[in-house]
Amino acid sequence: MGLKRCSHCGGSGVLRMGSNSFRTCLECLGQGSLVDHGAARRDISAA
Ligand SMILES: [Zn+2]
Repeated sequence: MGLKRCSHCGGSGVLRMGSNSFRTCLECLGQGSLVDHGAARRDISAA
């Protein structure tokens, strides 16, 4: 487990793309940090 600082918004929770800005960064849902979803993806590779 662990929270990582979102590299898309730099941890501010606000995503800026050129002249456009989003109040909520979709990558981290505006929280500024990413939750490790590694466990949830395990089912995909399961045969
Ligand atoms: Zn973000």
